[in-house]
Amino acid sequence: MALRLYNTLSGKIEEFHPIDDNRVRMYACGPTVYDYGHIGNFRTFIAVDFLYRFLRQSGYDVRYVMNITDVDDKIIRNAARDAVSVQEYTAKFVQAFLEDSATLSIEKPLLVRATEHINAMADFIGELEKKGFAYRTEDGSYYFRIAKFPEYGKLSKKDFAGLTDGARVDVDEYEKDSARDFALWKAPKPGEASWKTSIGPGRPGWHIECSVMSMEELGSSFDLHAGGEDLIFPHHENEIAQSESMTGQQFARYWFHARFLLVEGQKMSKSLGNFFTIRDLVLRGHKPSSIRWLLTQVPYRNQLNFTFDGLKSAASSVEKLRNFRFRLTSSQFPSGATPAMAQLAEETIARMKSALDDDLNTAEAQAAMFDMLRKVNTALDAVEVRQDDVKPLLGALGKFDEIFAVLKDDDQPKMKAILDWARAEGREQEISPELLDIAGSAQLTDEEINQKIAEMEAARKARNFKASDALRAELTAGGILVENTKEGVRWRRK
Ligand code: AMP
Ligand code: ZN
Repeated sequence: MALRLYNTLSGKIEEFHPIDDNRVRMYACGPTVYDYGHIGNFRTFIAVDFLYRFLRQSGYDVRYVMNITDVDDKIIRNAARDAVSVQEYTAKFVQAFLEDSATLSIEKPLLVRATEHINAMADFIGELEKKGFAYRTEDGSYYFRIAKFPEYGKLSKKDFAGLTDGARVDVDEYEKDSARDFALWKAPKPGEASWKTSIGPGRPGWHIECSVMSMEELGSSFDLHAGGEDLIFPHHENEIAQSESMTGQQFARYWFHARFLLVEGQKMSKSLGNFFTIRDLVLRGHKPSSIRWLLTQVPYRNQLNFTFDGLKSAASSVEKLRNFRFRLTSSQFPSGATPAMAQLAEETIARMKSALDDDLNTAEAQAAMFDMLRKVNTALDAVEVRQDDVKPLLGALGKFDEIFAVLKDDDQPKMKAILDWARAEGREQEISPELLDIAGSAQLTDEEINQKIAEMEAARKARNFKASDALRAELTAGGILVENTKEGVRWRRK
């Protein structure tokens, strides 16, 4: 069964078929690097990461490009306020974006930066002017003439008939009811960054950045364009207008938009005090894997309500999955096979695939895995799982984790890095005791822990309880919880 995705352009769920056989070319609008990314941004980036991972798992060869908007109104304003160059201002946030993405186990797309394509943008605008789609104003700015593009509004489903020809808007972001000629290029203003180009000095508008970079990397027509739902208008509508009037061809075929996230039932905003970056949550002691899990629990087109209770239950779901894998990899099993187990693994893989094929229904894919987990845990308790069952069961778990990416127990080093960052930034007062507690355990590597556990077991077998107790105490002090289970000694980090 083919993947079915909701396409904002058609307003329907459609079967996804790339233009070019097995090759998928996709583009996502990336961060505007004027601040640290918040959980809403990462809800969208993780949704696209899921799509990327799932397309590859489905056998496609995917070229996935994401831009970094490192010049726009907000950046220019903040850089001018801090009296630094645009590059200096954005460097820290570009780095933070890369680190936060890695913290959340987001696979790296091919990243392109707006400031590295300024000349191409200017040339593109020059061409649009020649074709009559753009005009220059007296100060040296350029605008797109939307009256020349009758299909304007086809993505956002707005009817712009009757708009006033020549009314202009020069800010990057604006409301739906103000459909006007939008700025492609902004003439230099005192104290603002500008570049010398074929169409004169100035800087690009935000919308032209994505048209130029996506087409440069992916061609005039490509398969899929993604972003958060707020980008449908004006950003994506404007991208379509610029690109299609330039080439006369369809720009992107499928438009993929992630629904905005709420926090504790409300719109996230700094004034409500419910605005969280990834780092804010880690400073409060939450694990990156719990954050990733929570951000994927609700399919990308449904409203996701981010709550702290939800974060706690996400942590427990991840823990269950990790314990499950541990049980399968560390226990002794009788030889042979229980055929129902391989069959269960196969069914689970099929259920996960059909869930994700259904417009990336992540919740349903998680439910499939948890059904398997419950059934196998029951079978393990009844000693019904045999040696040959382990491989197919781990196979299903592995397929699941190719997309969900939460099994690797690397939360502690990631949290330690954020702890160090907070100290370096003078944000000690935000470091919670929970974070200190967990990050402390990062000092011991997995190998060191396994080694100590083996020594502990050897001491216990030799009835040297003093030595084994001392080793256990050492591990506990390092934030490692040691448990004796039916299948032997098991450990986990706090
Ligand atoms: P920005 O850095 O503001 O350009 O946004 C980067 C990405 O995050 C865009 O795709 C936005 O649509 C998306 N985004 C911003 N806020 C939210 C939110 N609250 N929920 C989901 N996605 C968001
Ligand atoms: Zn964009």
